[in-house]
Amino acid sequence: MSNRIALITGASRGIGKACALALSEAGARVVLAARNVEKLEEVAGEVRAKGREAFVVSLDMSSPESIKEAFSKTAKEFGPVHILVNNAAITRDGLALRMKPDDWNAVISTNLSGAFFAMQQVLQGMMKERWGRIINISSVVGESGNAGQANYVASKAGLIGLTKSLAQEMASRNITVNAVAPGFVETDMTQALSPELKERLLTTIPLKRFGKPEDIAAAVRFLASDEAGYITGTVIDVNGGMYM
Ligand code: NAP
Repeated sequence: MSNRIALITGASRGIGKACALALSEAGARVVLAARNVEKLEEVAGEVRAKGREAFVVSLDMSSPESIKEAFSKTAKEFGPVHILVNNAAITRDGLALRMKPDDWNAVISTNLSGAFFAMQQVLQGMMKERWGRIINISSVVGESGNAGQANYVASKAGLIGLTKSLAQEMASRNITVNAVAPGFVETDMTQALSPELKERLLTTIPLKRFGKPEDIAAAVRFLASDEAGYITGTVIDVNGGMYM
């Protein structure tokens, strides 16, 4: 993947940060995108300390204007994006009966519409290069459903449909589009869950441990590689066997 440009959304922490470190280790020049630029600079520092290139771009996935701006800045200053990892996401959990329109809209616009608009931004450049990799981070619950997360699950299931459709549209241009569906991974997103719930969740995981951000990054790194060139439109489950 040497010198290819990889843009990772939500690269300031958790799974996105691990993806950025793994891709840069594999030789990519990484563009780190999220809202908190200070945090992104810290990650960029870690990448540069290993002698690799990293750029930082401010991006709000809930805003189509911000997405457009971030990608045109990236194209102008760093070059065409060869690898896009759509990782940024939020949760606003609650039972469907009482879910506020704001909570539905915020999750769908950040997780699903944002990912679609980001993909739109990179397609032309990838078509020109006749090479591209798009990797969408879905979730095990996008496949299984989950009570209390109708908005998040709809966004993650939507990403799987989007992945398959874009894979079909883009295959003739040598652009692959795949999804990775993590199980329970220890990050800020899952930190708020109660110890009791975590204990209960653990009993549903055949491999008997929670995932690490690096477990997800390994699948992303593979899908971004030349070796994965014959894989498109698929969902790789990285969930310890929690859903098969
Ligand atoms: P996290 O620790 O909460 O990090 C989320 C990242 O997304 C942060 O870098 C955050 O940065 C960024 N982000 C949030 N809203 C954004 C916005 N509007 N615009 C731009 N960036 C935004 O989450 P994580 O656990 O690493 O999850 C990463 C991905 O894996 C997500 O797609 C998540 O749904 C998926 N996933 C996670 C788990 C899990 O157990 N952790 C399981 C299944 C799937 P800023 O706040 O600075 O913007």
